[in-house]
Amino acid sequence: MEYIDLHAHMISRTTDDYQKMALTGCLAVTEPAFWAGYDRRSADVFADYFDHITDFEPKRAAEYGIQHYAWLCLNPKEGEDRELTKQVLQIIPGFLDRPNVLGIGEIGLNRVTRNELATFRDHVELALEHNQLIHIHTPHLEDKYKGTKVIVETLAADGRIDPSRVMVDHAEEHTMPIILDAGFWTGVTLYPVTKTTPGRAVDMFERYGTDRICVASACDWGPSEPVAIPHFVLEMRRRGHDEEEIRRIVLQNPATFLGQSPKFRLGHLARPAAVAAD
Ligand SMILES: [Zn+2]
Repeated sequence: MEYIDLHAHMISRTTDDYQKMALTGCLAVTEPAFWAGYDRRSADVFADYFDHITDFEPKRAAEYGIQHYAWLCLNPKEGEDRELTKQVLQIIPGFLDRPNVLGIGEIGLNRVTRNELATFRDHVELALEHNQLIHIHTPHLEDKYKGTKVIVETLAADGRIDPSRVMVDHAEEHTMPIILDAGFWTGVTLYPVTKTTPGRAVDMFERYGTDRICVASACDWGPSEPVAIPHFVLEMRRRGHDEEEIRRIVLQNPATFLGQSPKFRLGHLARPAAVAAD
């Protein structure tokens, strides 16, 4: 089945992974800027990173017929460093006009500190100033509930933000209602063993429906599965969900959210109505 992987750190994956994704129906990936596995010591390193995910990765993906899009930011983990944040925020606007850049992300919180929250707010300002979509990382494990609540409350209190232009990712059973009730899009990230397995993700759709929810592999350097979405599709079929419903989750929903950026184009898929009729 054709699908879009809305969260994939392809910089950390091999070309074989692009091939596997293409063979399983992947039409497009979006790559949020993230932590590199080490703290970067200068804004110049971020400039190189942004160049990589806006130039080299789209070319590598195109070899397999996959469209590659990117989100830019200084991630929540390094966002603790306010001085570095200031410098990186100055270079981001220079990359926003690149043809594959859809918005600001994945911003958010990691340990939910005062500095992280200040960095998060700075990125939201940047997104508003440049009319960009926003992709948000919520913390994992014990910080998830608190972090998600702080993020949602911060955004909801800002009257300038249109929640339909914001994706709050890494949702779990206990955070999904907080996000959806505030009008935001949300994402379930699929992992082979830890965190949300395909089976657990299907449980969530059975509980919360399919409105404004996407799935993604969030594949990166760690244990993760670049073809996690096809595994999710299999699990949905195994439980008897119909093809139309599955297609809505893995293709139409992300196309609708991402299609709010004029840069996101998937030919006939750019129009959600055409996807439904497909
Ligand atoms: Zn990520």
